[in-house]
Amino acid sequence: MRAPSSVPVDDAVLPFDVAPLDLRGRLTRLGPALDELLSKHDYPTPVAKLLGEAIVLTTLLGSALKFDGRFILQTQTDGPVSLMIVDFRAPDRMRAYARFDAERLKDGLSTAELLGKGHLAMTVDQGPDMSRYQGMVALDGGTLEDAAHEYFLRSEQIPTKVRLAVGEEWRGGEGGPTHGWRGGGMLLQFLPKASDRAQRDMHAGDVPEGADIDVVPEDDAWVEGQSLISTVEDVELIDPDLSGERLLFRLFHERGVRVFAPTPLQAKCSCSREAVSGMLKGFDPQDRADMVENGKVVVTCEFCSSVYEFTPQEAGVE
Ligand SMILES: [Zn+2]
Repeated sequence: MRAPSSVPVDDAVLPFDVAPLDLRGRLTRLGPALDELLSKHDYPTPVAKLLGEAIVLTTLLGSALKFDGRFILQTQTDGPVSLMIVDFRAPDRMRAYARFDAERLKDGLSTAELLGKGHLAMTVDQGPDMSRYQGMVALDGGTLEDAAHEYFLRSEQIPTKVRLAVGEEWRGGEGGPTHGWRGGGMLLQFLPKASDRAQRDMHAGDVPEGADIDVVPEDDAWVEGQSLISTVEDVELIDPDLSGERLLFRLFHERGVRVFAPTPLQAKCSCSREAVSGMLKGFDPQDRADMVENGKVVVTCEFCSSVYEFTPQEAGVE
């Protein structure tokens, strides 16, 4: 037993449990890493904020991977933000990008309006010897939190609540105020050890989309867990001066909360000159030839905006 640390730690996921309620969870706090991911692209504010939420959600899910796996979150929709990809490589690397139509962006659009209709896919890839798993849920007028709840209900059958928040921070300084993106999120799951309380057993097997899901009487512990996480405010999730431990203590101190070692996160792309060169070699010769402009082939990484330049010869153009 010790007092919660008051030192805020950015760019990390903090696992925790509340044993008396059979709750397990993870808390993400993102500062400089999120800012780097979003600032590399000149995204309009609503696009950056939405992609930021997708990044926070990805860290909550991807950080559960035990192997050198990959977790990829992808949205494909018909709204102004038509595509988002967040790629998480265990244990700590993240990269992300969004495609959007600037002409369809307006001030004050909700998440649902930015995304439009389509789907959210989550892919878990644990290496060449393991099977690849993909879960998909419809995006249809809800938030990313709603989609995550739907995903857990249908794919994992674990009672789960997620909170996501992204905001901008302005700090005064000698050279004028500096801007930075911050993000925070919490995932809470009910995982009872006693089998008579295991709600997840009630829906064993995949539930086809559109099927009715039985309404199970909710366990008191899970009712309490949901009511506690619902009190978390966005400002608490992104507050640079509130430590993650303090936030967890604030929420769960009456029941007792235990924290585990945090996992640090970093914004780091996995592209390289070798990888891009390998990709070019996989193209058909005519496509490679069509890429030559002003005597060179230039490839820009969509994730990190790194620019790779090749001579036609290096790019395999005959
Ligand atoms: Zn890159």
